[in-house]
Amino acid sequence: MRVPDRIVGCVFEPLWDLYEGSRRLKTMRELASRQFDDVAVLDQRRSRRLNGIVVEAAAHVPFWRERFASAGIDPEQVHHIADLAALPLMTKTDVRGRLDDMINDRFDRADLTPAKTGGSTGTALHVFCDRDGIELRNGAALLADTWSGWSLGQPTAAVWGNPPVPRSLRSKLRRQLKDRVIYLDTMKLDEAAVATFVADWRCMRPGLLFGHAHSLFLFAEMAREWAAELNPRGIVATSMMLLDHERRVIEDVFGVPVTNRYGCEEVSLIACECERHQGMHLNDEHCWVELLRDDGTPCAPGEDGRIVVTEFVNKGMPMLRYEVGDRGVLHDRPCPCGRPGRLLRSLTGRTADFLVARDGSRVAGISLIENTLTRLPGIGQLQVVQDDLEHILLNVAPADGWNEDVAAELIAVFSESLGGGHEVRIEIMERIPREANGKYRFSICRIPVTGGSRGR
Ligand SMILES: [Zn+2]
Repeated sequence: MRVPDRIVGCVFEPLWDLYEGSRRLKTMRELASRQFDDVAVLDQRRSRRLNGIVVEAAAHVPFWRERFASAGIDPEQVHHIADLAALPLMTKTDVRGRLDDMINDRFDRADLTPAKTGGSTGTALHVFCDRDGIELRNGAALLADTWSGWSLGQPTAAVWGNPPVPRSLRSKLRRQLKDRVIYLDTMKLDEAAVATFVADWRCMRPGLLFGHAHSLFLFAEMAREWAAELNPRGIVATSMMLLDHERRVIEDVFGVPVTNRYGCEEVSLIACECERHQGMHLNDEHCWVELLRDDGTPCAPGEDGRIVVTEFVNKGMPMLRYEVGDRGVLHDRPCPCGRPGRLLRSLTGRTADFLVARDGSRVAGISLIENTLTRLPGIGQLQVVQDDLEHILLNVAPADGWNEDVAAELIAVFSESLGGGHEVRIEIMERIPREANGKYRFSICRIPVTGGSRGR
């Protein structure tokens, strides 16, 4: 028998939090009640939280004590992100090399929740978060889920790589009674897997469809082919750039808007669209997001820059001025929904995946791919790989309409966009392979990025 969604939302969810001593739902309610607060009130909270994490880091984390001292920063006097301008950015290299010094001495590492990331770049990155931080992060994600149209208690359908398999009785119960999530493993996106997923869907009737942007797109295309008629209340696309033409297909097939979300394992939720879909609200309650030029100075709205995050909620391993490795652009106006604070207008791609033109300038590979896919026929999937300034490799999964003219046009577009005169090779494949974490990576640049890895 299927338990009504309202009973799950109103009874099972709170009971489970009580049982686990979790403050996830409490956090969600608190954040929901504050989301329309005046910007001055929000700024006060943010300032207090910034000061709190900086003082904590200086007192209990050797890495930060050292960094504050060498930058000449008095932690007690930090109330605004500008007060940290002299602090060098925290890089992935720092995390790899100094992890032991980054853990708060008040915590036992065994009590912290580990996360591993960086699979797509080939070098893993290990980070940790304390229990309280995890609860706060989960609460913020839950609120963001509701912006999509989903309600607490409704089941979830996830299109995800390597989905977790519940092993203990407790986690099986949790999956059955509370989470009620069905998975489509992006590592096995074949017809049999999709058929099982669709059958599970009809039984479970999920309110939320959640997944990597491109995997959602592929699933939408299959659902359309099968006339599956699946009707989630909301769709959250995350973990990858959501391309406009993919968004249109997903929305067309499922009949609801896609809610674009941006985050990473290291600092969790960074920004998310609200129900108006006019840009992504920065997660100002839990972090301070900076967009920086390559010289370390702040970008103006509309200007493309490196995304740098200072998170307030993870005392176990404070992440201060952490360079995520992505680039984005801020909006020059607030969202019409009335929530204060800044909006991220768009993500422009991973810093590492910007292609390099002959004159040394950088070109957003993912934008180039998007323009090409919308303009040229016959391309199912397209991946660009650049190893040096002379050569470009284009991996193509052809669709109906692929021919030599399209191939010639493709070669011309990529070569010209990067300065011309390249040796362009096209490799035909049935499907672009996924990374080990189940995500796709469409623009890969292996030319080392020089300069600009530090803040002011
Ligand atoms: Zn909004």
